[in-house]
Amino acid sequence: MVAAAAATRISVTLPEPTSPAPSTDKPSHWANDDGTLFHNPWPSFRQTSLSDLATMMYQVNIRAPPEPISTTAASIPVHKPDFTYSSSSSGSSKPIPAKQIKATWLGHACFLLELPATTPGKRGIRILLDPVFSDRCSPSAWVGPKRFTKVPCEVEDLPEIDAVIISHNHYDRKPSSSFPLSSLLNPSLVVDLDIPTLTRLLAHQKSSPPHLFMPLNTLYALPQTLKDGYETTQLDWWSSADLHVHGVGKARMTALPSQHFTARGVFDRNKALWASWSVEQMLDGDEDSQGAEKKAAGGKIGAKIWFGGDTGYCSVKDGQHSVDSQAPVCPAFKQIGEKYGGFDLGLIPIGAYDPRGFMSPIHNGPTDAVRMFKDTVRSTPSTLS
Ligand SMILES: [Zn+2]
Repeated sequence: MVAAAAATRISVTLPEPTSPAPSTDKPSHWANDDGTLFHNPWPSFRQTSLSDLATMMYQVNIRAPPEPISTTAASIPVHKPDFTYSSSSSGSSKPIPAKQIKATWLGHACFLLELPATTPGKRGIRILLDPVFSDRCSPSAWVGPKRFTKVPCEVEDLPEIDAVIISHNHYDRKPSSSFPLSSLLNPSLVVDLDIPTLTRLLAHQKSSPPHLFMPLNTLYALPQTLKDGYETTQLDWWSSADLHVHGVGKARMTALPSQHFTARGVFDRNKALWASWSVEQMLDGDEDSQGAEKKAAGGKIGAKIWFGGDTGYCSVKDGQHSVDSQAPVCPAFKQIGEKYGGFDLGLIPIGAYDPRGFMSPIHNGPTDAVRMFKDTVRSTPSTLS
């Protein structure tokens, strides 16, 4: 499940257990005994049916087609990111900020995250979250939703990346002349595992490839060239792995629950897990930083970030405002917030939430995202732990 990179630049290890051995009972999100099929184990999730799908198709195509979205530069400005100030300690024209998290939104759910530098004048660990640089959210190069705005930069413009986190296996863009039947059966058109982007990243990276962190059983979706090219770690919910980028720093990656599903085709629904993720900067050892204020089992913890991935919060009916409804909310987000005592930064999705009755089980609306932010990022440590 965990592999260390052959090169010495990056290594990944499992943390020492800090609490009693986990229960041998099957986790509640496993739908079978061997952890190869999963489900959402909460009343906040509702499984949509083919009848729901037909209703949704009628609504968005005939009854109430959505208004066209303006994609002019004035309404959605796109800025080319400037990564130069943290590219290296030599030749950089701008100082590297101390003790600051740097997050650059690159469209879709994709962020480039740079943890605070632990050594003055050096960069921090860089993590690419759900990298998507393709034009369409579809298994086809020619059919399917096209991105509203052009990419803010190319894969080849990115600085050296240490790790990639994937939230789940939804569509990549595979060149194909066939109509993507699976896209009709799969309501989530958000790309989170974009094979062409990962291929370009592998070719672009001059040093050893970034380490790939994925939810349990996601590896099958990669072509053999990427399985050979990347070192990978697959994690179950509440499981962690420690990334050590030698000479740069350490970070603990933990897969956490989210309310979603997976499928790349018609026959692999929920055979891979989906996840949100925490990233914790680890300040122990020879790369310790001055001024660590937070303490956690196993060492000092610096910056804490929560990445929501692709997720819903509750299940409501069309036209229903989730705040006012009696619909149960997913309890996992409060659990995450209480376990971590809040986060310094939350990257929380909003999108593909209309029609609400169909989309709310798997995608956040704006009110869902705000409530999720309060549950996770603004939480305080649990008094029960
Ligand atoms: Zn998705």
